[in-house]
Amino acid sequence: MKLKIAHLYPDLLNLYGDIGNITTVTKRCKWRGIDIETDSIYGNEKIHFTDYDLVFLGGGSDREQLLVRDKLMSMKNEITSYVNDGGVLLAVCGGYQLLGSYYKLKEETIKGLEILNIQTEIGDKRLIGDVVIENEKFGTIVGFENHGGRTFINDHTPLGKVLHGHGNNDKDGVEGVIYKNVIATYLHGSLLPKNPVLCDHIIRLMLEQRGLDTELAPLDDASELDAHKYIVDRFTK
Ligand code: GLN
Repeated sequence: MKLKIAHLYPDLLNLYGDIGNITTVTKRCKWRGIDIETDSIYGNEKIHFTDYDLVFLGGGSDREQLLVRDKLMSMKNEITSYVNDGGVLLAVCGGYQLLGSYYKLKEETIKGLEILNIQTEIGDKRLIGDVVIENEKFGTIVGFENHGGRTFINDHTPLGKVLHGHGNNDKDGVEGVIYKNVIATYLHGSLLPKNPVLCDHIIRLMLEQRGLDTELAPLDDASELDAHKYIVDRFTK
């Protein structure tokens, strides 16, 4: 049994080391003897979402988001069904915004997939820097954000409460969204490398969706946890 990841549009949606998230899922599976591979999806080819155990949508500039919008909208029904059936989806920054109703720029509005009831509007200043959030189940999550958009998540459950940084909109003190098996966040490429607990949660969801054993062999996470702790200590103590 081989797990499969679909990386959507890595040529356009891949900022600040976003691909590191895929590398981390892949490595943490392989270190445990779980076979896994990634298909990079570039063009307008039809994607069979049921073939995949994780769909990854990275971040992109406003220009790149405009370029992928039509491709994404052409698969709106398929990706919505994938999510409704419990498919695992990780979306970062620009990818996160595109899961919502819209991303309103100064001159135009990019319509989103409407999988999440969230709305994003561009602000005057970019929100940039290290972030520390707290999630009840995963503890602290650390990462890096760089976005012009402010996202409002209505009644959705956030990924975490902001302890340091800006989060969804610099106002309501929360970051990201967890919805079904979707994790959507402004935190980029250092997300899964520096948060092994969250990465293993995603791997367990992937295995569970395939009806496989979700028991994961422990790994030596000393370096990962050091990198995590460094950020927590630096910004919250
Ligand atoms: N273009 C979007 C914004 O600036 C997303 C940026 C990103 O993915 N880092 O808000």
